[in-house]
Amino acid sequence: MDYVSTRGTAPALPFDDAVLAGLAPDGGLYVPARWPRFSDDALRLIADMAYPALAARVMAAFAAPSVTEAELTGLATDAYRGFDHADIAPLKSLGDDIYLLELFHGPTLAFKDYALQVLGRLFDHILNARARRITIVGATSGDTGSAAIEACRDRDTIDIFMLHPHGRVSEVQRRQMTTVDAANVHNIAIDGTFDDCQNLVKAMFNDAPFRDRHRLGAVNSINWARIVAQVVYYVHAASLLAAPDRRVAFAVPTGNFGNVFAGYVAWRLGVPIARLIVGSNRNDILTRFFKSGRMAVDVVHPTLSPSMDIQVSSNFERLLFDLYDRDGAAVAELMTTFREQQAFAVEPRHLQRARALFAAARFDDEETKAAMRAVHEETGELLDPHSAIGVAAARSVERPPGVPVVALATAHPAKFPDAVEAATGVRPALPPRLADLFDRPERFTALPADLGAVERFIAATLVDRGVRP
Ligand SMILES: *Cc1c(COP(=O)(O)O)cnc(C)c1O
Repeated sequence: MDYVSTRGTAPALPFDDAVLAGLAPDGGLYVPARWPRFSDDALRLIADMAYPALAARVMAAFAAPSVTEAELTGLATDAYRGFDHADIAPLKSLGDDIYLLELFHGPTLAFKDYALQVLGRLFDHILNARARRITIVGATSGDTGSAAIEACRDRDTIDIFMLHPHGRVSEVQRRQMTTVDAANVHNIAIDGTFDDCQNLVKAMFNDAPFRDRHRLGAVNSINWARIVAQVVYYVHAASLLAAPDRRVAFAVPTGNFGNVFAGYVAWRLGVPIARLIVGSNRNDILTRFFKSGRMAVDVVHPTLSPSMDIQVSSNFERLLFDLYDRDGAAVAELMTTFREQQAFAVEPRHLQRARALFAAARFDDEETKAAMRAVHEETGELLDPHSAIGVAAARSVERPPGVPVVALATAHPAKFPDAVEAATGVRPALPPRLADLFDRPERFTALPADLGAVERFIAATLVDRGVRP
């Protein structure tokens, strides 16, 4: 499968090159040159597969021939071995034809593990074949850093440097990063804010000699392989609910539009999805778009669901590309308008097309807490604030009769114990695998928010590690 850019001018690339590149050189995002499709019979066969085999089958539709199904079976088996539930992504009934898909059984207790555990191994596989290395650099406000670190730890071809703002990350989140005992993992605590960290990472990517010498790379949410690995659990959940012989809807707590876009890809693949329901918190740019056809940036409000505190949902550009019949020039124009005016609008026919599949609902913190409380009272389930928005969205949007809805539970309640306790009166316990988190030794280096200091530290660390550029 070849990949083309949503902005239409970058050359097409095979899967492995698109994965290593991340962003396309014309500023666009890679999407498959055409959508692969499974027949109903192929979907029926998949229903009996164990999760890693299913993952390899689904991913091969996008990755072959660069990476084969047999190779993907090896990567996926290894990636999901450490998950703490036999079903990997178990489906639970909440009654009323509403189901919860638990996506928090990976090492860092959030759904990002489902894609990143595969992505780290995939990078290693592709780079080993080319006898190349990569230096991953990233900035985190606390939530995504640990998933990226767990994905890259102990990979031969990767060193990862993760910047976090010193003293401004919760203790659980910091310890999930700093207690990882792996020689290729380097935590940097920056004397500054998350914005300082992000600006330092951007500056390193803009420093061409430094970027090229150390082969900088990223594992951020626009990477196509992350989307592909997320398609798997949509196929899995739908087949547990008797797809392709029954339609199903999904409700997805959404920030960057990566997770729900994977649902769209599953629909393209042939999974009979009747509705994709986008759940937002107070940062409701997407909800407003699906109502009005206008995407307009507002300020970011901090909420109980910090992983959705986003204004610009980068992956939305991939949907726009299809809404505009894959006209890259039209998408590039919209994106220029967006950058210059912090807003753009689509025509009614494009909005109509989007609304044929997507619906959206937003919930402020009070409504989120009310949903956590209600689900706990009615079913005994503890939901984290992100997952609660998913369930609230599932309940609030009308769907065709007889169509079940699956709400994606994107984080374990113990990742957000204060919010869960405030809403339900119950303090969720960390699962056994993390029970000794507070006793493990921490490793990090404190540095000033200074580009030269950070670059010197990275270069010296790589020399110490014997990594030759
Ligand atoms: C990242 C994240 C989200 C948002 O997912 P997107 O793919 O960015 O839409 C939702 N919930 C949790 C817990 C997350 O970590």
